[in-house]
Amino acid sequence: MIKAIDIHVHGHDDEAIKAMGARNAQMGKYFGKELAPVSLDELADRYREKEMMAVIVNSTDVTSSGIPPVPNDHIADAVRRNPDVFIGFGVVDPWQGRVAVDEAKRCAEELGLRGLGELNPGRQAFYPNDPRFYPLWESASDHGLVVLFHGGMMGSGAGTPGGMGFKLKYTRPIPYLDDVAADFPQLKIIAAHPSWPWQEESLAVARHKSNVYIDLSGWAPKYFPEQLVHYADTILQDRVLFGSDWPVIDPDRWLSEFAELGIRESSRRKILLENACALFGINL
Ligand SMILES: [Zn+2]
Repeated sequence: MIKAIDIHVHGHDDEAIKAMGARNAQMGKYFGKELAPVSLDELADRYREKEMMAVIVNSTDVTSSGIPPVPNDHIADAVRRNPDVFIGFGVVDPWQGRVAVDEAKRCAEELGLRGLGELNPGRQAFYPNDPRFYPLWESASDHGLVVLFHGGMMGSGAGTPGGMGFKLKYTRPIPYLDDVAADFPQLKIIAAHPSWPWQEESLAVARHKSNVYIDLSGWAPKYFPEQLVHYADTILQDRVLFGSDWPVIDPDRWLSEFAELGIRESSRRKILLENACALFGINL
């Protein structure tokens, strides 16, 4: 019996580490730990043991770094081997235009992936509401792909002079995500993380547009601001999702700290499991 779905898990195998380039050492330093590689099958075993499912996200910044991403086929293969625990997301670089649109279609139709992301507007240097990217959101919407956007401050580049050149302005929820959510009402969007320092904007977008979800990944729950906890327990209880952002935060740590928050049992079940089941049409 599945107890929870971790909506935001990064691969950290040899392929993923290679695709991170200089960010692997930088993130390791910033978060105070550099993790050894873990194969996707080993990761699947860990989630199976915890009786949890995991959404494996992919990531790219090929346009700014020149480093090719982990092929989406690599994620899809891992999902095929572990369909009981994995849901897979593919990734595209929006700047690749037609190539990105075609890859989104291939992710859905050929690879059986369920979403796109984690797209990181900061690292990929794009405003999601730029009309040049609208064919991509339209394709995602048409194919039922959930799109997961990183929001707010990011670990990538953090603590280095110039933040490795990444600009935070792209990661602001209003107007960039809000516009996309308004113009593609059928598109399901996940705003990842509490979007600090724009948490209120993220809450407002999710409150206003029912196609927007917030994942609580990348932050230790013991540091969640009171307002976030309150919204997650009340008016946004149907649209907030458990995510760890592993390897940044270990899901066990996330869950034990989350258990300490004053959230009603009914909201807790929704956040940990039921909202993700509804989003992906999973019938347990
Ligand atoms: Zn992120």
